[in-house]
Amino acid sequence: MARHRNVRGYNYDDDFDDDDLYGQSVDDDYCISPATAAQFIYSKRDRHQSFTEPLEEEGELEQDEDMNNPRGADTALSSVDQARLHSCLDHMREVLGDTVVEQVMIDAVLQCKFDEAKALDLVFQQDNNKNIKSISQAASSARPAKGKTRELSSPPEAQYEIVPKMAKMIVSGKKQTMGFDVPSAKPELNGQNASTKTPSTVEALDEADNGSQSVALPNMPQSPEDPNAAPTLLKSASKTKRKLNIKEELEKRQGGKPLLNLVVIGHVDAGKSTLMGHLLYLLGHVNKRTMHKYEQESKKAGKASFAYAWVLDETGEERQRGVTMDVGMTKFETKSKVITLMDAPGHKDFIPNMITGAAQADVAILVVDASRGEFEAGFEAGGQTREHALLVRSLGVTQLAVAVNKMDQVNWQQERFCEITTKLGNFLKQAGFKESDVSYVPTSGLSGENLAKKSTISELISWYKGPCLIDQIDSFKAPQRSVDKPFRLCASDVFKDQGSGFCVTGKIEAGYVQSGDRLLAMPPNETCTVKGITLHDEAVDWGAAGDHVSLTLTGMDIIKINVGCVFCSPSEPIRACTRFRARVLIFNFDIPITQGFPVIMHYQTVSEPATIRKLISVLHKSTGEVMKKKPKCITKGMNAIIELQTQRPIALELYKDFKELGRFMLRYSGSSIAAGVVTEIKE
Ligand code: GDP
Repeated sequence: MARHRNVRGYNYDDDFDDDDLYGQSVDDDYCISPATAAQFIYSKRDRHQSFTEPLEEEGELEQDEDMNNPRGADTALSSVDQARLHSCLDHMREVLGDTVVEQVMIDAVLQCKFDEAKALDLVFQQDNNKNIKSISQAASSARPAKGKTRELSSPPEAQYEIVPKMAKMIVSGKKQTMGFDVPSAKPELNGQNASTKTPSTVEALDEADNGSQSVALPNMPQSPEDPNAAPTLLKSASKTKRKLNIKEELEKRQGGKPLLNLVVIGHVDAGKSTLMGHLLYLLGHVNKRTMHKYEQESKKAGKASFAYAWVLDETGEERQRGVTMDVGMTKFETKSKVITLMDAPGHKDFIPNMITGAAQADVAILVVDASRGEFEAGFEAGGQTREHALLVRSLGVTQLAVAVNKMDQVNWQQERFCEITTKLGNFLKQAGFKESDVSYVPTSGLSGENLAKKSTISELISWYKGPCLIDQIDSFKAPQRSVDKPFRLCASDVFKDQGSGFCVTGKIEAGYVQSGDRLLAMPPNETCTVKGITLHDEAVDWGAAGDHVSLTLTGMDIIKINVGCVFCSPSEPIRACTRFRARVLIFNFDIPITQGFPVIMHYQTVSEPATIRKLISVLHKSTGEVMKKKPKCITKGMNAIIELQTQRPIALELYKDFKELGRFMLRYSGSSIAAGVVTEIKE
């Protein structure tokens, strides 16, 4: 499903053997990166305009004039205009299907002087809410209406041409490994999930070594440029490279709006994609035309209620199965922040992908289904509500907004809302979230209620006076970014672009990067030059900690780079190792963990098979004091120091130096069994 290539296993020679392959890959959802797809969308549109010119030459259209000219308008049109009319109609039919009478389209095209975009808008205006209403109608007819059916909110004022996807993280096991498949040890077979653990133990882990973690380095030195490598490039790059005062630049950027990485988590079918898809629509990031197209397509596929989810669930497989698999990324803005939204999969088969999303997030929205029985199913053993919340907390997320969704299904009852928030509140406190950092918002993703503006529904406003979802997102505190530290970016995707070099995407965990910089990739220990930087699909000169960027790199062989490689400053490199010690917190896992225990280590975008090589000591949960040395086994709820051995080298940092790059999760047979922080790198 990924739009990215399995770079390692990809034979680029094939591209050259078959002239048509490139063309095919454009249509093939499985081989195209979203960036390329976006380009294609643009170029297709551009091309479409230029195609109208050659069409003018084609006389054959004239023969059809009666067929397409029910009211005889064509007779008054020149052959050129007839061709333009047909071209516009064809394109409009692609969007509108057969929902609009042809005459209405013809009128609109003529009225808008063959500007099909304007004509479509005109048709939509005439047809205003109808299209969106039908989504909700289709949805409610597709499922037994448990609660009140509501009309979907009116379409947004803002009109954008772009579908808002900016990138996808490549996170499924087979793509992220560095050359072999993760033994996906019967994913989630036993359905065990990490659940309650001792209160504040995650916090204890988080705060472990806290004292020494703020090693604020002086202003980060520019990556030294290796004069031997790619001399011409460097020369030209350094000519254009300006000296950067990163803090000032950050202040200036986006009108001083800080960037926030937000992950959306929750049990499968809680309504995550619908909620966020609808929010994006209401914010004007999806135009009416695109929404209408999704509606048509989802209806055709018999999944009308998923129209909004399709904004984020991009691939055929996701749409067909009705579940999110990859982590979709989209940008939107609130009053005071620029948000990179990551829509993580809820299904338990895709928890590794969710971990990757969560590892890059600053804050989270936990979506729960308020319908009777559904919240319970997600919250109990086997559901993902608990596991997701615990995972994000263990991965460093401290602020959480809970969207109590599908409130329309329970008639916006305050009692149900309170029942859910009480149950969740107790659990979240145990999981290490401070009460003041958790907020609850009643929502309906399907009807759009309480998403982009405060609800007006009387059943709700009679008891709920809090903010709507977007205001809640806006009130998240922006995290401190480690821009002063040496550069670190963990690759979440590697793909070949059309020009020379190749692209790597990922979140900058620390420091900043400028076009022309030399970078070192670890573990391969290879250097390269940054030729270009893209942030939110726009070319930029620099990117800094917290930004999800795409780097175009030259001077390095793509074959050597895998998802999970860390790009760093060559003067202050990250270390690669196969053996390290860590402080771990064992979740509610019934099997005693002994020496030699096999696990899958999830670290940033990497899933790496590993074994527990040594059990060093058991620690006191709150004081960190050694309680027992060389224990025979460690069991649930324990805090311990262990030594891990990975199969292949992995680029790691000590937690005390780089919080973000010193955290990991351990999973076994589809269950998350422990969270850990790196305390010592051995070799
Ligand atoms: P995800 O798996 O969490 O991303 O869930 P989806 O967004 O794919 O939604 C699952 C199903 O729940 C779809 O049929 C949606 O139409 C439906 N759904 C989502 N939000 C709501 C809501 O607020 N109210 C109702 N009644 N249905 C919803």
